[in-house]
Amino acid sequence: MKEPDSVDCLLIGRFQPFHLGHLEVVRKIAKECDELIIGIGSAQISHTFENPFTAGERHLMISRALRADGIKDFFLVPIVDINQYGVWVSHVRSMVPPFQRVYTNNPLTRRLFSEAGYDVSASPMFNRSQYSGTEIRKRMASGDEWRKFVPSAVAEVIDSIDGVRRLQDLTAQGEGDVGD
Ligand code: ATP
Ligand code: MG
Repeated sequence: MKEPDSVDCLLIGRFQPFHLGHLEVVRKIAKECDELIIGIGSAQISHTFENPFTAGERHLMISRALRADGIKDFFLVPIVDINQYGVWVSHVRSMVPPFQRVYTNNPLTRRLFSEAGYDVSASPMFNRSQYSGTEIRKRMASGDEWRKFVPSAVAEVIDSIDGVRRLQDLTAQGEGDVGD
């Protein structure tokens, strides 16, 4: 039976890839919340420079990294984009278990959820100059060190799918259509 004042929390991100900054946020949320729900955003997009990994690959990265960190109790839910912000919160709500609080640093996500009456918390940024998806993707593309910025379980998944080569190929070809 749930406590009446229990707080179930949602963290949304694209996690391209899931890095040590995300892991710090998850550790904090896991302490503060009863249920932890992680929404994998832009789930339909993969194989672009901004979004190289599929929702399934990101699911694997996150679940392995959290289990390796001793966090066992979480829901991971892929969320596809709908390009209509006015109904985005109801779209998210329809995809995930009930929640009362949202953790985000994204201004639009903050606005949409607070307008819908949710409690929105900003999470502190951990070592943002390095723990950043954009920075890690750039490093992979240019052959620089990136493994120390992600949990080791994430590096293993990326290696197993030849993820660095995928990013480098995407950089080399630009982002044309399949078959160009
Ligand atoms: P990108 O550069 O591709 O946007 P990102 O590092 O910002 O990647 P997201 O998946 O966009 O990662 O972020 C998901 C959530 O995690 C957002 O609310 C974001 O603000 C937060 N976040 C990202 N990096 C950090 C960090 N270093 N410390 C704390 N929170 C972070
Ligand atoms: Mg971001």
